[in-house]
Amino acid sequence: MLRQYELVERVKSYDPTADEEALNRAYVFAMKMHTAQKRESGDPYISHPVEVAGILTDYRLDAATIITALLHDTVEDTPASYADIKLLFGEDVANLVEGVTKLSKVQIQSEASKQAENFRKLVLAMSQDIRVLLIKLADRLHNMRTLHFCKSPEKRKRIATETMEIYVPLAERIGMEQMKNELEDLAFQTIHPEAYESIKTRLDFLREQGKDNIKKIITALKADLKENGIKGDVSGREKRPYSIWRKMQKQNIPFEQICDIMAFRIIVSTLEDCYKVLGVIHTKYPMIPGRYKDYISTPKPNGYRSIHTGVLGPTKHRIEIQIRTKEMHEVAELGLAAHWQYKQGVHRDGKQYRWLRDLLDLLNHAQDPNEFLEHTKIAMYQDQVFCFTPKGDLITLPKGATALDFAYAVHSRIGDSCIGVKINGRISPVRTILQNGDQVDIMTSKSQHPSPEWERFAVTARAKSCIRRYLRAQKREQFIELGRQMFANMSRENDIPWSDKSLEPFLADFKQNTIDDLLAAVGEGLIPFTEVFRKIHPEHKLRLKKAISIFKKSRKPLTENDTKTPIKGLIPGISLSYAKCCHPIVGDAITGIVTTGKGITIHTKDCDVLKKFKDEPERWLDVEWNRELMKDKRLPVRIKLSLSDRPGALTEVLNILARYNSNVENLNTLDRSGDWTDVNMDISVLDTNQLDSILNDLNSLKIVSNAHRLKL
Ligand code: MN
Repeated sequence: MLRQYELVERVKSYDPTADEEALNRAYVFAMKMHTAQKRESGDPYISHPVEVAGILTDYRLDAATIITALLHDTVEDTPASYADIKLLFGEDVANLVEGVTKLSKVQIQSEASKQAENFRKLVLAMSQDIRVLLIKLADRLHNMRTLHFCKSPEKRKRIATETMEIYVPLAERIGMEQMKNELEDLAFQTIHPEAYESIKTRLDFLREQGKDNIKKIITALKADLKENGIKGDVSGREKRPYSIWRKMQKQNIPFEQICDIMAFRIIVSTLEDCYKVLGVIHTKYPMIPGRYKDYISTPKPNGYRSIHTGVLGPTKHRIEIQIRTKEMHEVAELGLAAHWQYKQGVHRDGKQYRWLRDLLDLLNHAQDPNEFLEHTKIAMYQDQVFCFTPKGDLITLPKGATALDFAYAVHSRIGDSCIGVKINGRISPVRTILQNGDQVDIMTSKSQHPSPEWERFAVTARAKSCIRRYLRAQKREQFIELGRQMFANMSRENDIPWSDKSLEPFLADFKQNTIDDLLAAVGEGLIPFTEVFRKIHPEHKLRLKKAISIFKKSRKPLTENDTKTPIKGLIPGISLSYAKCCHPIVGDAITGIVTTGKGITIHTKDCDVLKKFKDEPERWLDVEWNRELMKDKRLPVRIKLSLSDRPGALTEVLNILARYNSNVENLNTLDRSGDWTDVNMDISVLDTNQLDSILNDLNSLKIVSNAHRLKL
């Protein structure tokens, strides 16, 4: 394990201005917090964050990143909190630690591997600061290096699979070849142990056979360069087991036929030299067709540049040769880091991590990102949020989506019966806007149903349409029930036997397909009730007038669910409007009238308009205010008053209204007679008591006379 002073010295070696004291403090803090914990290897836990920090010093990352690496598991695994970290190490580090903590909750389930691309997007979206991703990769690398200590074979396999599917491609995407290779090899060993072993055995055999081949070839290639006056380094290595295995898979060939197991790299100082070397090689050694690739003229999306070719080399073995400059090499190995160091030319000014700041800046305000960044742009997934079910399944939603959208994304049944949510274990409102990485647990109840206000909480088209579909069906249910009640009441009043079946012979007369259709049409008022009733019982002279009162008395509330609508006696979701003639407010005695195609209109009981319906008792509904639900809701009411023409008179009126928090929704000036003007206003009030107080107060003003409620 790296010692404290060694780590600090490493950072100081590339960044002399780094805050040494903060680094030391972080080291000690992490040590203290993790003191009682051990790794599965038996090592003290602190060895892990320290090694992660060590890995990141190889990439010459800024002190904040190194400090975060030391602290990265403290919030997750120890009593330390975000607030503690912020207090001790500042907001920058605290946010980084929080970012890594959130990422560590991302866990791909093995059966969900087809979602790998989504998980990669998630990780990118969550790493809003690219340093978070770099720390996470280093964390993963150290965990992979020590994976063999993990006792559970299932867990080993899960972590290795996740590494292969999520972190290897991410390391590749940001151009970190070295990191990618190591992660890949470690994961391969765990996922396909037999394949790994057999390739390794074969490699050992070939190595034994062709002893010193690598050395011989290096010497020969070096001589070739020298002969042509080109300066360059030549290195050679065996290919990695994983890349051999992948080639076998890809080309479907057995291991015996894989012969180019050696790869050589020639590093020169200039771009021209790259092509000179290529000329030399191709002149001297037979080229293997299909193996030549020029990633210098066409770089890989992650910025990788190099020439690749395959030839029958000096020892008559097939070999692969990569040709590149020193800069290209560092970019390939270290990814973003090296690229930006070169761009900035910052080797000397002691601010090696400027590239990071610039990169972050560019990511935040990318207008014309260069080809290198285009493919590492984290902002790519900023219009989506990625959340999890308690089982760890990933749900992707548009940004701004709420917990209710999540519920509907899981299943429309879950959405319809959602009574509450837990977000990251905490009970939260269903309208809560979700954040990346949130784990959402939907609580359901069979007795729960969508209500009209849900439409305002839903963002996704799916959720909205599910809610609407439910409400439409619900309304129809209500209209059917309403129609049924009308027939039942009228039949009882006239002593006529009644059942739904009585309607069956008359469906065609009213162009309806089912009994429910006819009941709904009557309930909704699309077909007049009396017309249907007379058709069924032409012999009966209906006692209509008397029916009115009995009808009202005998009417039972249509639903138990009275707490959800402002009017008792109606099913939630029925469309409801308040008559514009009488402007009913809480405290008024009211009556509901079924209005064709419109649902129910509420009038005050003394409203003159009701006279129009006196011959249609079936349209009358006995209703009452749901005072509990309406207790702080305001409805408009119309008042009329005469106002003195004195300046400031209207202001005095408005002051009184303001005292009652009453809004003026409409104001009309009518006749002007002498010094007084008649004014109509629609104001919002809680109930009749409040209206009385307002009218009293208005009438007590000198500039007001005869303020009163107005009904048409
Ligand atoms: Mn860790």
